[in-house]
Amino acid sequence: MQEDWKDGVWQRYGEFFDWNTPYSIGIHSLPIGWRELVDTTLDRISLVVDTDKLASLSIHRLSRERGIMKIRWTASTLRFEAIVTDIIDRASARSSVTCETCGEAGVRYRVGDNAVAACAVHRTPGAPEIRPAWPSIRIEREIVSARVTIKSCRVYDRDADKFVDAAPADLGIGDLS
Ligand SMILES: [Zn+2]
Repeated sequence: MQEDWKDGVWQRYGEFFDWNTPYSIGIHSLPIGWRELVDTTLDRISLVVDTDKLASLSIHRLSRERGIMKIRWTASTLRFEAIVTDIIDRASARSSVTCETCGEAGVRYRVGDNAVAACAVHRTPGAPEIRPAWPSIRIEREIVSARVTIKSCRVYDRDADKFVDAAPADLGIGDLS
């Protein structure tokens, strides 16, 4: 039952996966907790494709890699590429803070060699939290007087579904220089 939704994804968005197979794409690796996230992401892309006749997308990879939803893709136009980049960037950050078991808000934990997004209920007892939580952080750096400094620091706000300004120290980021 739980695995059926991946078949549904494959059937509903087959146009994005063209010549590939579900296994080569990596869909089997997606956890059930990301179901809504996967659907929302593909729906958003689909909506753009429907309203822009020049827009088409090939997804080469849609998988879970180290606690993050990874999507590798190519788009037909630069304009469409910019839109899809934004959609997927937010989706990738969101996956890192969405429990892989239940889909509620979570944080990243180190479990063995793996990174796992989990809520307080589904976390592995004793697993240490991973900080800084890089998959949800976007940093722009610049060089000022031969020193690397942070130009902007943003973190994914799960409730607002967007990146917001944050203080590096609050995210566990120390001096980069
Ligand atoms: Zn959970």
